[in-house]
Amino acid sequence: MKYCYHCGKMTAGDPAFCGTCGRTYDVRLCPRLHPNPRGAAVCSKCGSRELSTPQPKIPMSLRLLALLARLGAGLVLFYLTLALIIDAVRSPQVQQTFIAVGMLLSILWWMWSKLPDWLQEGIRSFWTRRHDDAE
Ligand SMILES: [Zn+2]
Ligand SMILES: [Zn+2]
Repeated sequence: MKYCYHCGKMTAGDPAFCGTCGRTYDVRLCPRLHPNPRGAAVCSKCGSRELSTPQPKIPMSLRLLALLARLGAGLVLFYLTLALIIDAVRSPQVQQTFIAVGMLLSILWWMWSKLPDWLQEGIRSFWTRRHDDAE
């Protein structure tokens, strides 16, 4: 009795091929039934390129489980990152930094708006001229 991981069916006896989907079990067989390793592209004994398709190494159900596990791990990681960010935002130190940066920015904006018009114009034209020079 052999169990095929590809189609999930049993084949009685000691068959070389799955009775349902026709795949070989852990070898690739040429038309003359020489066994070759999974990675073989040609038969090592007769050189035939018509090698059978072996069943997958891992059962379909297990592959699905592995995929789900990977997806789950990704989700867990995502939530952990999110939780970390939320935690960081909640912590007073980070909040203080945010507030300090915010205050600094508003002070800078306030200073900018208090600058006399001619100075604003001068800085702006200086800035644009420098950009023009660079190009
Ligand atoms: Zn099969
Ligand atoms: Zn062969």
